Amino acid sequence: MRFGPRVLYTHPAVADPLLDILQRYWGYAQFRPGQREAMDAVVQGRDSLLVLPTGGGKSLCFQAPALLRPGVALVISPLISLMKDQVDTLTAHGVPAAYLNSAMAPDERRRVMQGLRERRYRLLYLAPERIAGEGSTFVPWLHEAGGLSFMAIDEAHCISHWGHDFRPEYRQLGALRSSLPGVGLHAFTATATARVREDIVAQLGLQDPVTLVGSFDRANLLYRVLPRHAMATQIRQILARHRGEAGIIYCPTRREVDALAASLAKEGYRVRPYHAGLTDDERHAHQDAFLNESVDIVVATVAFGMGIDRSDVRFVIHAGAPQSLEHYQQEAGRAGRDGLEAECVLIVSSGDFLRWRDILSKNGELTDARQGLLRDIERYAASVGCRHRRLVSYFGEAYSKGDCGACDYCLGELEAVPEPATLARKILSAVARVGQRYGAAHVGQVLRGQLSEAVRSRGHDTLSVFGLLREVSVDDMRGYTDQLLAFGLLRQVGDPYPVLQLTEAGAAGLRDAAVLDGLSLARQRKPEKGSGPKKSRVEAESWAGVDRELFDQLRGMRQRLARERGVPPYVIFHDTTLRELARLKPTSLPELREVYGVGARKADDLGPEVLRVLHGG
Ligand code: ADP
Ligand code: ZN
Repeated sequence: MRFGPRVLYTHPAVADPLLDILQRYWGYAQFRPGQREAMDAVVQGRDSLLVLPTGGGKSLCFQAPALLRPGVALVISPLISLMKDQVDTLTAHGVPAAYLNSAMAPDERRRVMQGLRERRYRLLYLAPERIAGEGSTFVPWLHEAGGLSFMAIDEAHCISHWGHDFRPEYRQLGALRSSLPGVGLHAFTATATARVREDIVAQLGLQDPVTLVGSFDRANLLYRVLPRHAMATQIRQILARHRGEAGIIYCPTRREVDALAASLAKEGYRVRPYHAGLTDDERHAHQDAFLNESVDIVVATVAFGMGIDRSDVRFVIHAGAPQSLEHYQQEAGRAGRDGLEAECVLIVSSGDFLRWRDILSKNGELTDARQGLLRDIERYAASVGCRHRRLVSYFGEAYSKGDCGACDYCLGELEAVPEPATLARKILSAVARVGQRYGAAHVGQVLRGQLSEAVRSRGHDTLSVFGLLREVSVDDMRGYTDQLLAFGLLRQVGDPYPVLQLTEAGAAGLRDAAVLDGLSLARQRKPEKGSGPKKSRVEAESWAGVDRELFDQLRGMRQRLARERGVPPYVIFHDTTLRELARLKPTSLPELREVYGVGARKADDLGPEVLRVLHGG
C-alpha cells in the first residue's frame, strides 16, 4: 500500500502557518528564541541541530512542523516512561500522536500499526533500539511507503561519549543518515559543551546541518549559594517559602536521602525518597506520586531526574555540592521548566569537595579534568558576583545584563568584604602560626580569640594572631576559609580530621600582599528583622494581579481532571495558564481562547469546567 500525502493541517489563507499552528494547537502567542529558525529547518527538510536549555521549548520545534509536513514524523526518545506523557500531552492539544515500545500489550501495538497504515498520526515516538531490532525493517517500510516525514532525535547527547548520559543504543542511529536519503534528520539536546555538539553532528552524520544554539541563561531561576552551617534548619527555611509547591532536594548519599525524607514526612511534608537502592516498583511509585501531584517533594540522589517532566518544580535544593557545574546546571535546571520563577539553592561546604576528591580518587577517576571541574564549581560557590553571569560565561556565552534580579548577589544578600587582601592575610598567617597542623574550626577559634580548652592547652592564646578577628562571626569565619580554599590559597589535608595548609599561592600571598590583588571575599548579609529573603523580579512580575485563592482552586480542578482522565496534571494545564486564568478571569469561551496555553482543543474540552470554577454555577 502507499501513503498518500495527506496533510492534516490545511489553512491556505494564513500567511504564517507555523505561527497559526502555535496559536491554534498550543495557545501560545509567539515563538521563543530559536524556535522559528529550528522549525524552518525542519519544514525545509534540512538536517539540523538545536541546542536549547531544558525548558527552552525544543519539543515544539519538531511537534509543530509535524503538523505541516506530509507523513508521520518519527521521534527517537530514550525513555519509555516519558513517551506516554508526551503522547498524552499532544493528544490533549489535539495533535494525533502515538508511540511504540517493548512495554506495550500486543493489541495496543496492533492498534497503533493500524493507525499508521491509516495515516492517522502526525508523530510517532520510538525508543532507539526499535530502529535496529525489528524496526530495521519498520522504518524503511514507512519510508518506502512515502509515509515518513522527518526524524527527530531527542536527547541527542546520549549518542556521545563526552556527554553526561551516554547510551550505547543511540549509536545505532548513526546508520540512519545513509539508510534514509532525503529524510531530514534533526537532533535536539540541552547539552551546552561544544565538544558534545560536534560529536552529535559527526556520529549522526548530519549533512550541512543548520546549527542553532540558544542562550543558556535561565532568567526565571533564582540562584542562591548558602555556606552550610545548620543544614536541617537551612532546608526548613527554604521549604517554608514554598508551602504546597513542588520541589526536589538532592542529597549526596542514599542514607542522607532516607533520613531527610523520613524526618520531613514526620513533620507533615508530602515527600518521597528516590534513589538507586529502592526497588523498581518503589521508584516508579514515588516518581508517579510526584508527577501526579500527590506528593510535593522528592528527596533524591542524582539517580532522579531525567525522567521527570513535572514542569512546575518551584525549587531545587542541593544539600551538598555536585561534582561539576555541568551537573549543577543539569540538576538545578529541572526547576521552572514552565518559565515561571523557581529557586535553586546550593548549600555547600568545603568538605563536599574533599569528599568528591576522595570518592573519585578511590575509584581511580580523579583525573586532571575531574579536578578542574571540581575546582570550577568550588569557585562558583565561593565567588562574589552575579551567579547568572558566572554560569552563563562558564558555558562560553557573553552576559549582557548588569543586574539579573534573580541571584543572591544581585538581590544584595551577599556583601563584599572591604579589604579582602588584609583579611585573607590574617587567616593565612594564623594557619602558618599554628604550624599548618590544625583544622578550620581551631584556626577560627584562635582568630576570634576564643579561649577554648584546645586553644589554651596548646598555648595558642599567646600567638600574635590570637583575637585578630574578634568581630567576625563563626559562620562568616567558616565562609572566608572556604573561599580561600576555593581560590587555591589554602588546602585541606588529612582524613577524617583535615588540617589547613598553605598552598604555594597562599604562601606567596602571605609574603607579598600584591599577590592577592584582585581577590574578593564575601559574607552573607543578615536579613533585616522581620523581612524574609527577597523575591526575584520574575516572581514579583509573574504573580502581579493574580487572585491566589482562585489559582489554588484552579489547581484543585486540574488535579481532579487529571485523575479522572488518568494523565499527569500538567497535561491538563501548566501553572502559567492557571495564573493567567486567575489574573484575567475570562468570562466566555472566546475570551478563554485568548489565554496563554489554551488552544482550540483545550478551550472546547475544558472551557466549560474552567468557567464554572472561575465564576461558579
Ligand atoms: P525542552 O524540551 O527544551 O526541555 P519543552 O519543549 O518541554 O522544553 O518546553 C518547555 C515548556 O515551554 C513546555 O511547557 C512548552 O509547552 C512551553 N513552550 C514551548 N514553546 C513555547 C512558546 N513559544 N510559548 C510559550 N510556551 C512555550
Ligand atoms: Zn545576578
